Amino acid sequence: MSFYENTLKNMNKAAKIMKLDQETLNVLSHPQKTLIATLPVRMDDGHMEYFEAYRVQHNELRGPFKGGIRYLPSVDLDEIKALSTEMTFKCAVAGIPYGGGKGGVSCNAKKMSEGELERLTRKYVQAVYQIIGPNHDIPAPDMYTTPQIMAWFMDEYSRLVNQYSPGVVTGKPIEVGGSLGRGTATAQGGAYILEEYMKRHDMKIEGIRIIIQGFGNAGSFAAEIFHGMGFTVTGVSDSRGGLYNNDGMDPFNIMKTKKEKGSVQDSDEGKPCTNEELLEKPCDILVLAAMENQVTEANMKNIKAKIILELANGPTTAEADEYLAKEGVVIIPDILANSGGVTVSYFEWLQNQQAYYWPIEEVEAKLKRAMIEALVRILDFQNEYKCTMREAAYISAFDRLDKAKKLRGSGAHLRCKIYHDK
Ligand code: GLU
Repeated sequence: MSFYENTLKNMNKAAKIMKLDQETLNVLSHPQKTLIATLPVRMDDGHMEYFEAYRVQHNELRGPFKGGIRYLPSVDLDEIKALSTEMTFKCAVAGIPYGGGKGGVSCNAKKMSEGELERLTRKYVQAVYQIIGPNHDIPAPDMYTTPQIMAWFMDEYSRLVNQYSPGVVTGKPIEVGGSLGRGTATAQGGAYILEEYMKRHDMKIEGIRIIIQGFGNAGSFAAEIFHGMGFTVTGVSDSRGGLYNNDGMDPFNIMKTKKEKGSVQDSDEGKPCTNEELLEKPCDILVLAAMENQVTEANMKNIKAKIILELANGPTTAEADEYLAKEGVVIIPDILANSGGVTVSYFEWLQNQQAYYWPIEEVEAKLKRAMIEALVRILDFQNEYKCTMREAAYISAFDRLDKAKKLRGSGAHLRCKIYHDK
């Protein structure tokens, strides 16, 4: 099953449980608009390289399209369609006034120089600028895209439309219209949700062992935040492999080593293991903060965690999801667990619209409130429909999307064919 089929399956299951209007399901089962472009980029050695680029605008019933851009070799249309669909649901779950979109470029960002990344980003903006904008489609960072890339993005867009437009993209550096707290927002939002969930289930943090897969923007901050909260971090990993120590590790030391030497595996806080082994180690909570399709039919039977927190998008396949639910594993689903990122993106956009910037305390207090409200609403639906948290999260989103669709009428979901921009 492809990632997009997996997403459709999650939607269909929830739609059936809540008896959703078939027309609403149909509308949300198709992205509204897709742009595919080939970006010619001059590389440092002088030759021209061509990169496939995508922007999928899934749905705008609840507001402008919103969602990140990833720079990853495996990027393709199926993946970006799935991720854009998830964004529509994520924004609805979080209760922020956006629809969903996603973009990506198939490239190996890790191997590209600063100059090549800048030229690629500017080319991407040139390809999409006519279909995006602060009130229409607002990109953001995702895998291997950084605040610096967002700064180039904002600069190129502002130049093309001849107007300073910080609100066209979020996840920018503070100096050019970013928000305090955006960098840590995905992890922080997940931490607020986990904390509240545990409080409601009379669980104590002390002695809880937590393994975190992925050490990027979500995973590295998650490790540091959970360590700070008093959890015992027993495992971490990055694209090279895992690091494990049943007695607990200090993620700040691991980060220091990764910055100096390149990988978490270079740290002597724990013993190296493979990424596959790490997921199957004994622990209480498994945080999936790497990428899609990590817990699958192949390893689902070996997962020991009782709670899975999905900080990545789509890390659990539909088969594994069903199996783990039957085994009583609680999965805090991606569209809730990682919605802190896009929520602070919304705060950044609001600050850009007002040209007035908030102190960190305000960002964090508003984020915490939004996360707890989103969680409580989902727990209420879960109680009403006696379903999994993922199903309840989709129901929470469908409920808002269905109401928006009915209020707006049939004009609001026009569909365009894919078009290819050369
Ligand atoms: N890429 C992040 C996500 O998947 C953030 C999106 C945004 O801030 O718009 O949620």
